[in-house]
Amino acid sequence: MEKKNVYSAIQSSGIPSLGNYLGAIKNWVDMQNEYNCIFSIADLHSLTVRREPSQLRKYSRDMFLLLLAIGLDPEKNIIYFQSHVHEHCELAWILNCYTYMGELNRMTQFKDKSQKHSDNINAGLFTYPVLMAADILLYDAEYVPTGADQKQHVEICRNIANRFNQIYGDTFTVPEPLINESGAKIMNLQQPEKKMSKSDDTGVIFLFDEPNLIMSKIKRAVTDSDSKIYCSPDKPGITNLLKIYSSAKKISIEQAEKFFADKNYGQLKTCVGEAVIELLEPIQKKFVELQNEKDYIDKLILTGKQRASEIAHKKLQKVKRKIGLI
Ligand code: ATP
Ligand code: MG
Repeated sequence: MEKKNVYSAIQSSGIPSLGNYLGAIKNWVDMQNEYNCIFSIADLHSLTVRREPSQLRKYSRDMFLLLLAIGLDPEKNIIYFQSHVHEHCELAWILNCYTYMGELNRMTQFKDKSQKHSDNINAGLFTYPVLMAADILLYDAEYVPTGADQKQHVEICRNIANRFNQIYGDTFTVPEPLINESGAKIMNLQQPEKKMSKSDDTGVIFLFDEPNLIMSKIKRAVTDSDSKIYCSPDKPGITNLLKIYSSAKKISIEQAEKFFADKNYGQLKTCVGEAVIELLEPIQKKFVELQNEKDYIDKLILTGKQRASEIAHKKLQKVKRKIGLI
């Protein structure tokens, strides 16, 4: 039986966070044997926020190394930079013409990021979901593994694909989001009502943080004035720590709650810190090793570009034919 296609991406907008790992890229590793996977570093999406060029370059390259360090096999999967495949932008323009302002206006990411970057509410921030739809649709992805925050963008991608297919006949595979509930939405440690984002300055565990720093960030995590350990909407800080623990230890939330039932907040934080340190240690070690493999990495980057381009080119040609471009 033919394997189904999976597509997902991560922006090179900073050092990846524990949320990115537990909610997204760890799941990529779990999927690589069962599916045909295409993973991209969404460096074009990262441009929606103004960046220092040398820093963007570093974040992008480090992200590539990190994807290998977490255990993605560059032969089994296609791993590439979005900006290396020009078809993404071409298809995005075409799809812009099949997307309504009203649809884009409803996107919560646009609202959140407009607030956060009120001095730079650019058109790219607004049309971000259209570029994301182009990413996914170029590769006939059936599944898109993401964190819960991207569900709305996969929905709009489905709407665009269905709309296009209705007008021109079967062209795009309509994708489904795949959300792994346990790590789907890791919250900021200082503001547990807000998701952890790699572009935030505080309350974030970055995958390259040293053990001492990880422990001190977790020790400083906001909790509540109660002393009982269980998940509840009115205990967002404790719920988040339990989620991190269960996801890092690969156990259920119920098992985690049981384990901490007779423990105090201090013990919870120590255990969560240790679990995260243990989880990240091998990744950090592998990342450092890969930093010395420049030629090997350069070769992989080129291969990724070639493999992705081949698929994207065919799809874009088909789209152009369908809509009547010569
Ligand atoms: P930025 O702040 O620049 O948007 P980000 O941390 O939101 O960065 P993205 O590159 O936008 O990261 O998203 C990459 C993947 O990580 C997506 O699948 C997204 O759903 C997932 N993700 C992001 N934040 C979290 C989180 N806090 N918990 C779980 N998954 C997350
Ligand atoms: Mg994001």
